[in-house]
Formats: sequence, structure tokens, C-alpha cells
Amino acid sequence: MDDLVPVLFVLFVALTTFALLLSVRPAPEILVVVVAGHGGHDPGAVVNNVQEKDINLTLALLVQKKARDAGLKVVLTRTTDVYVDLVERVRMAETLGASLYVSIHANYHRDVKVCGVETWVDTKAHAESVRLAESLQRAVVITSGAVDRGVHRQTLYLRHTSLPAALIEVGYISCPAEREKLLDPVHQERIAAGIVQGILSYLGR
Ligand SMILES: [Zn+2]
Repeated sequence: MDDLVPVLFVLFVALTTFALLLSVRPAPEILVVVVAGHGGHDPGAVVNNVQEKDINLTLALLVQKKARDAGLKVVLTRTTDVYVDLVERVRMAETLGASLYVSIHANYHRDVKVCGVETWVDTKAHAESVRLAESLQRAVVITSGAVDRGVHRQTLYLRHTSLPAALIEVGYISCPAEREKLLDPVHQERIAAGIVQGILSYLGR
């Protein structure tokens, strides 16, 4: 009988552990769709041979890596220099069951003195999109040290989705100092870290 005690004890521990493992359900996976603005035949803004589409793609790939490291599932609407139809991008996000949608752009102004970060939502955007935009704006201004140009509304293709959706303009490629920074890998890391931080804050993580 004494020999049975350790065996029963081990069995008890094993069963308890198994029951505990079954009761712990993993947190639901959050899928984020990240868009590198423009692409292919559409370069976006172009200044001194610097093409916006290339900066956007570099940043989107960095955001994907950092967001995955933070435990989020990320799908990019493009990973190469191709153009994806605007409405197709939001349909892709909805078909995949995304939780939110972030589009990355770099800005242009004919006045080279205009510099800074701003975030856009559609004129008809609901409160969640505004909250996402504010979260992204706040975080990227902090990590990049750029001028805070705020969150604004504009008629955007983002109106074709009910997902929380925002478009961040990470800096002006027409502003010489900012253009230089947008091409600097160290600064690109800072911007990407800010975008991921903004997403995580929005999600309450
Ligand atoms: Zn753009």
C-alpha cells in the first residue's frame, strides 16, 4: 500500500496540471492589416528621386517585424513594389477578419518648411478610428521627435470599411531634414516602433 502513495501523488499532480492547461485558453489572436501606401505605377510623392512608395514599404516591413515580436499577427497588403487597388486593400482586411487597419504614408507640401507627423481618418470615421489615429499620432510623435501636426479628417477610401482604420503620414519628404531622416535606418526603426506602440496602446496592451 505504501508503494502506491508516490504513484498516486504523481498521478494527482499530472491530472491537476492537465486540467489547468485545459482551462487556460490563449488570448484571442489579434490580426492587424498594415498597408504600405502607393506602390507599382503609383510612386506617391517624389522629391530628389526619393519615392514615397519605397519609404512606406520599408516602414511597413519594419512594423510587421516589430508587431510580430510583440505578439500580434500582421498581414501586409503588399510586400513588394506592386500596386494594390484601394478598395481591394480594405476587402482583404475584412476577409481576413482583421481587428484594425493602418496605412503608412509620407507627406508632401510645396512649402519645404512644412515638416511633421499627422494622422488621417475618413470624414465619416467612427470613434474607434479616431481613437486609433490619436494613439498612433501620440506614439509616433514621441518616438520620432517630429512636430505634432495632429489628427485630421479627410475623404479617404477608408470609408469603405467598418474596421477601425487610420492613415499615418510619418513625415514630409518635401522637408529636407525630414526627408533625410525618413531615409535613415535608425530613424525608420523609431517610426516603426512608434506605430507598433500606437497599435498596442489602442488595443490596451
Ligand atoms: Zn501617400
